[in-house]
Amino acid sequence: MIIVLKPRSDTRVIKHVLERIEALGLKPHLSEGVARTIIGVIGDESKLSALPFQAIEGVEQVVPILKPFKLASREFHPEGSAFDIKGVRIGGGGLAVIAGPCAIESEELLFEIAARVRAAGANILRGGAFKPRTSPYSFQGLGRDGLKMLQAAGERFAMPVVTEVMDPRQIEMVVEYADILQIGARNMQNFDLLKECGRTRKPVLLKRGMSASVKDLLMSAEYVLSEGNRQVILCERGIRTFEDSTRNTLDLSIVPNLQGQSHLPIIVDPSHGTGRPDLIPAMARAAVAAGADGIHIEVHSCPERALSDGPQALVPDQFDRLMREIQALADLFGKTITSRTGEAVACARS
Ligand code: PEP
Ligand code: MN
Repeated sequence: MIIVLKPRSDTRVIKHVLERIEALGLKPHLSEGVARTIIGVIGDESKLSALPFQAIEGVEQVVPILKPFKLASREFHPEGSAFDIKGVRIGGGGLAVIAGPCAIESEELLFEIAARVRAAGANILRGGAFKPRTSPYSFQGLGRDGLKMLQAAGERFAMPVVTEVMDPRQIEMVVEYADILQIGARNMQNFDLLKECGRTRKPVLLKRGMSASVKDLLMSAEYVLSEGNRQVILCERGIRTFEDSTRNTLDLSIVPNLQGQSHLPIIVDPSHGTGRPDLIPAMARAAVAAGADGIHIEVHSCPERALSDGPQALVPDQFDRLMREIQALADLFGKTITSRTGEAVACARS
């Protein structure tokens, strides 16, 4: 259930309600919005009925959340969630442009790609050091060496970095180097991984599983949130359908669908969502027009030599062109692509 406090409740009231909840052996989750303070209480509802919260001074309303996801729900946080990652605004009018190679292959290549995507207007650098490959014989990633390269590239080009973590045992290492932890589609329901990422204080980019429903995605987000980590970014990356002319079927309706049900920022990955460079720009533009809080694009300077996902990579010139269009759409929809310094990125305009 959620406990809605009266407008302008002071800290004394908030503290009192929190103490009463804890005294029942339950965990309160505080959400302080601009207009309202809301306290989410998750757990045994029978314990809650033992205390008439409505009777506490300062409590305006006690509302049960009927949805299975609670902390991820809009009811819990009526305003959209927004947060800053090293100056890059996610949600709240900030447009995240995450770009980079599928896998970190070498420092030279990573720096080359990072320079190009940054110059084009990307504000977050991606690159996998642990790769979830279908075949155990395919390139598995450079591990810690790759993470070091990613961190160095992020420093050099002033972009926070995101990279996938596949296993709870990798978290300790990955948090040393990454600014955002990516949970991949194949691991969206790896509940131990979700919980462990929830115990870190790093933002989590949670990708939709290939056969996950919207509810499944939000339940996975709930795992991270319930451990106390509030910085969850959802990512649509396509789902498996009978269609075989694209790698996956990109479900763009998920953007307004999720926004109605959840306060969490949502970004769209048309690279994995379509697997086709000829479709990626149109789907990236459509994602921004649909109201997404960001896009996630794989870029490689020589896709034919890429060790992972080469066929879906945009080359830097294609990414330049796309970014001119994305910047125009961001202007149209009142979104800002902020850089690590907190200023709007200098994006080449046509
Ligand atoms: C990736 O981002 O490179 C990746 C493996 O994505 P997904 O988990 O969406 O397949
Ligand atoms: Mn990839």
